[in-house]
Amino acid sequence: MRVARLWEKSGDTVTCLVCERRCRIPEGGRGVCGNYVNIGGTLYHYGYGRLSAVESRPIEIKPLFHYWPNSTALTFSNWGCNFYCPWCQNHHISFRRPRDDDIVYEPLELLKLASTLGDEGFSASFNEPTVNLDFILDLAPEAVRRGFYFMMVTNGYLTEGALKALLEVGVDGWSIDIKGCPGMRRALASVNHEVVYRNARIVLDSGGHVEMVYLVVTNTNDFEECVDWIIRMHLDKLGPEVPLHVNRYYPANYWREPPTDVGKLLEIYEKARREGIEYVYVGNINRWEYESTRCPKCGKILVARKHYRVEEFLLERANSKWRCPRCGHEIPVKGMYIPGKRWRITF
Ligand code: SF4
Repeated sequence: MRVARLWEKSGDTVTCLVCERRCRIPEGGRGVCGNYVNIGGTLYHYGYGRLSAVESRPIEIKPLFHYWPNSTALTFSNWGCNFYCPWCQNHHISFRRPRDDDIVYEPLELLKLASTLGDEGFSASFNEPTVNLDFILDLAPEAVRRGFYFMMVTNGYLTEGALKALLEVGVDGWSIDIKGCPGMRRALASVNHEVVYRNARIVLDSGGHVEMVYLVVTNTNDFEECVDWIIRMHLDKLGPEVPLHVNRYYPANYWREPPTDVGKLLEIYEKARREGIEYVYVGNINRWEYESTRCPKCGKILVARKHYRVEEFLLERANSKWRCPRCGHEIPVKGMYIPGKRWRITF
């Protein structure tokens, strides 16, 4: 357990300032995610280092398609979440609070493991990494100092203070889920989805890399106004060059709606492209043409992918930029391409 960095006190109650839930936590209590606890008027990160999984994973699975292509990241998660999405695929870790008998890691152990495995970077994911903030703030600067990249897979519901602290220590890759839109009634109805775009904009303004992920959940966030809102917010707040992943949902946890209709996903793909988003992908349908990157200027396939792995990488590097080899158009890709990398499961 560590004293938390972001909180304020009012009498015996403390307010956690890690995410936009801003839990008010009485003496002896924990916040919604179960990771932050008020002991004697001080906020502690109880979940610090209590990890639920550690393994090497390809960056494309996050998904990040325009960031360190074909690399692997040492991926780790803790327990709990600040959201309770009823369709969560990882509910066994995100709906479970940290406990005294959990295995505890120190940041140094993960640094050694990433070096041993030959990973190029780190990924905080599987559960919501925001609730592991203090651990990440200790690990990330050491990782970046040693030449690793550092990225997060997140619902983007951090406070500005938490986000800026992460950017300052070098977390520069962001796969951000947009869970829905105003007007959702069946789940996540109290979430302010605009906060997610505010935070994505802050990352971009800091020079970081963002890809947005829209899991289209049947009869939940798939209605026309929701699709239109997400496309409009993407273009207005982030711009046409930020990739959008339109992903298929499958029933999980206690959400029993059928899997997203593939025709619906392709409609959203076409609409997003028509409206001006230049890099749109459709995930979880296993069709290479919707996983691959095309030049928005001349249409050439630049990065062919299959099953979230890079099959062919044709971009050319000149003056620190990636370009289409046919027309020279600059393609937004952060980091280097890692050829010949194999994916190894380690834990
Ligand atoms: S990080 Fe956890 S305790 Fe803190 S505000 Fe968010 S849900 Fe509440």
